[in-house]
Amino acid sequence: MRLILFGPPGAGKGTQAARLLERHPSLAHLSTGDMLRAAVSEGTPLGKQADAFMKAGDLVPDSLVVGLVVERLQKPDCADGFLLDGFPRTRAQAEALDTALDGAGIELDKVVVIEVPDSLIVERITGRRMDPETGAIYHMKFSPPPAAVADRVTQRKDDTVEAVTARLSKYHSETTPVLPFYDAKGLVVRVDGVGAPEDVALRIESALEGVG
Ligand code: AMP
Repeated sequence: MRLILFGPPGAGKGTQAARLLERHPSLAHLSTGDMLRAAVSEGTPLGKQADAFMKAGDLVPDSLVVGLVVERLQKPDCADGFLLDGFPRTRAQAEALDTALDGAGIELDKVVVIEVPDSLIVERITGRRMDPETGAIYHMKFSPPPAAVADRVTQRKDDTVEAVTARLSKYHSETTPVLPFYDAKGLVVRVDGVGAPEDVALRIESALEGVG
């Protein structure tokens, strides 16, 4: 199965990616946000260039992100399928991905769009916390961390109100224009992302019935 998980910041892409990987363990998970955060914390040249864009809630330039993904797609673990999470985020990225996949003779199966209205995003994101030891994602109000991990959960640097507002605005101006590109190929399925993560996961699973 070759999938793109698409949606605004705070739509639940990370949470749903984790659930999809539990059910489809052969998929490689390619989250450009995770890759870029790893590069920042390792202090690589790419991380040093990406850091300021990410903190401000801006998109990292295509020239930096595309190479990262194209290189990653060539790794053996992608041969049995992959889940792209947070990429492509611009029309140029979608076109570069298309060229790379065409060159490798690979076809995408679906682009799953998780839809959540803007009015819910800020509360979702500013309450979000992560357990750095397990990667588990919590929400201080909707899904609080258990007492044993409550003291160690951390907040992403770009999960502030200011950065979220910038990220949402970029999503509408730069990222949603990617959808017509995949609509034209008949690949887009839209899933309601409002509600409990279990319910959203069921909607995604039924949207993927018969794929792969
Ligand atoms: P995410 O974890 O997907 O919310 O991504 C966090 C941040 O990483 C974004 O706000 C961007 O600054 C950067 N980023 C992640 N993926 C991309 C991408 N495909 N293109 C440009 N910037 C990205």
